[in-house]
Amino acid sequence: MTVTELPAPPTPAAELPPPPGVHLSAPETRAVLTVQDGILRATREYLSEEGFTELLPPIIGPVTDPGGRGSKQVDIDFYGHRYKLMTSAILYKQASLLAFPKIFYIAPNVRLEPLESSSTSRHLAEFHQIDVEMAGAGRDEITAVVEGLVRHAVGRVVERHGRELAALGRDPEVFAALLAKPFDRMTHQDAVASLHGIDHDQNPDAEIDWEGEALISRRADRPFFVTQYPKGSRGFYDREDPAAPGTLRNFDLLAPEGYGEVCSGSEREFDYARLVARIRESGENPAKYGWYLDMARAGIPSSSGFGIGVQRLTRYICGLDKVWQATAYPKLPGVVSP
Ligand code: AMP
Ligand code: MG
Repeated sequence: MTVTELPAPPTPAAELPPPPGVHLSAPETRAVLTVQDGILRATREYLSEEGFTELLPPIIGPVTDPGGRGSKQVDIDFYGHRYKLMTSAILYKQASLLAFPKIFYIAPNVRLEPLESSSTSRHLAEFHQIDVEMAGAGRDEITAVVEGLVRHAVGRVVERHGRELAALGRDPEVFAALLAKPFDRMTHQDAVASLHGIDHDQNPDAEIDWEGEALISRRADRPFFVTQYPKGSRGFYDREDPAAPGTLRNFDLLAPEGYGEVCSGSEREFDYARLVARIRESGENPAKYGWYLDMARAGIPSSSGFGIGVQRLTRYICGLDKVWQATAYPKLPGVVSP
């Protein structure tokens, strides 16, 4: 398999969603949104059964996830103070564990992704995450929750939404391996080596790029985890592995058939001094994170958590070309839309 086998990038015109009146009344959109409703219902069923409490997520705050993944944050004027729209509610998830040991949100995020990402078929400027955090959990426990949740959601969709899948031309047989077999895992280092083996120029210090994810995930028959990303490729809150410094106790879940990343997660850093050091290393001023660091100094639980992109998961389950097809009100990077 070589990079040249990748399909040509879509033309900009093919990327653009139709106007809302056309998009919302299309039978295909109705089938996709019905499946998405089924995914969200199954998510709540599963997490509630596992003892998680659903909280309503914050939308604004004095700081948000610093990201470092190339997207820009959106400022708002909060009574003369500069606040941010949430790019991710990660800091609040850690805070929430002071109230309950297992929590989740269905959280909206706004990220001004780079213009070129409007043609990846995977990026929206506004999307949602199934955002989960669990006190005291290590990576193996939290990946078990991801796996259980994805299997439950897909199982429920296959059970309850055969008609919608048929209307979308999605054969439920593609989920046979996902439903029957445990998800595999590979390290980031192995993923990089395997991409170098097929002449894909993957940067070993960065997250796997989109083309690389498409290449490795195309070979899989079910979702799989990539673990242990290098420090610097992810946020300061992903815990560094004491046994393998320079790498993080984190993971992504990649969907097969070339769909790639649907979830990122990690064991979290929770120690005040290490958090300050990691914020500094990432080139940021710890003073910006005042409320969060004050809370960490007083003590927050160790935890692990993850975020699954709702539209990305819907795209995979429905077998859609573009992620915008999995949202009622698509906002593509740089595209002016209602
Ligand atoms: P991240 O914190 O960047 O790993 O994002 C968590 C999850 O949200 C990812 O695994 C994706 O499933 C989803 N996600 C991130 N960015 C976008 C985006 N621009 N558009 C749609 N989904 C996204
Ligand atoms: Mg990610």
